[in-house]
Amino acid sequence: MSLKDRLIAEIGEDGPMPVDRYMALCLHDPRGGYYATRPALGESGDFITAPKVSQMFGELIGLWAAEVWRRLGSPKPFRLVEMGPGDGTLIADALRAGRAASGFVEAADLWLVETSAPLRARQAKALGDTPANWARELDEVPAGAPLVLIANEFLDCLPVLQFERTARGWAERRVGLNADGELTFGLAPEQAGAAPGLPEAPAGAVFEVSPELLSLGWRIGARVAEDGGAALFIDYGRARVECGDTLQALRGHAKEGPLQSPGEADLTAHVDFPGFLATAHEAGAKTALTTQGGLLIKLGVGARAAALSRANPANAERIDRQLQRLVAADQMGDLFKAAVVHSDGLEIPGFEGADG
Ligand code: SAH
Repeated sequence: MSLKDRLIAEIGEDGPMPVDRYMALCLHDPRGGYYATRPALGESGDFITAPKVSQMFGELIGLWAAEVWRRLGSPKPFRLVEMGPGDGTLIADALRAGRAASGFVEAADLWLVETSAPLRARQAKALGDTPANWARELDEVPAGAPLVLIANEFLDCLPVLQFERTARGWAERRVGLNADGELTFGLAPEQAGAAPGLPEAPAGAVFEVSPELLSLGWRIGARVAEDGGAALFIDYGRARVECGDTLQALRGHAKEGPLQSPGEADLTAHVDFPGFLATAHEAGAKTALTTQGGLLIKLGVGARAAALSRANPANAERIDRQLQRLVAADQMGDLFKAAVVHSDGLEIPGFEGADG
């Protein structure tokens, strides 16, 4: 039975399904979930991410990680963690650049947090003979050593709940069935009332909350507060508390309705950075938020692009296009945010002057 048919059967039996369960099944169902069965990243796949735009992205993240490690006092060992490493391009580029910092790669106990079996295989291939460990979630990565963590376009995969403002209050949006037995959005009959955290909004507004994102914020915050370290998250998301229905499916680089083809498209929601960072802060960590463009510029992407162009003059135009794509305000530069969660007393490269 296809994932869609199984969803329809489950809803028929149990009633309309919270959006976070729908999203989790579409992404991770072992027999039909997108990442579990058919993840297609890159030019010829469904979507493209910054590490696939240019090697400069992963290289600068690698230099960032090495500099954080140095500022931590060059601990050996330390846990170098990537969450949601995709096809392994980012970690491979980061380690290559990180070799410039003497002792960094040798001190790293490398962990990749990944649920997808096909992507784990691609990550192993990209790493070659670099030793690595895999975990299904962060809690499986042993505590007790400083943490340097990176994650690009990972938080947007964490399932969200949706609430819709009605004339009488907030109601939870669920995935149900229409008269023809097809998947459709509806509202839970009971009101969510003045659920904590829901802002004032006009009727029709949609507000998203991700319990998994908030739980991860708490766990990362507690972890760096206890063990020391920093965790960098780059993703498409909001910098302020605001409403918006951002659930989005992408297939073959084109958007489609989130209910159209469950499991056959990537399904994401904009990241609630204010909520994520607030929970990390409550757990005892320091936090800061900037834009992808702002971070990369401070980390020296301009000089890196110039050096690559000098070494390879025939590619200069392409390198400049890639640079613009990563940092320009009307491309990825402003839409994508960079957030850091870190231990007290650590200055984070690239976040100088950024807001907590
Ligand atoms: N960081 C990569 C890939 C982004 S795609 C890049 O920038 O190109 C999202 C990645 O997160 C995939 O590797 C996917 O399998 C993984 N992922 C999604 N949800 C996850 C979860 N709950 N736990 C662990 N990994 C997850």
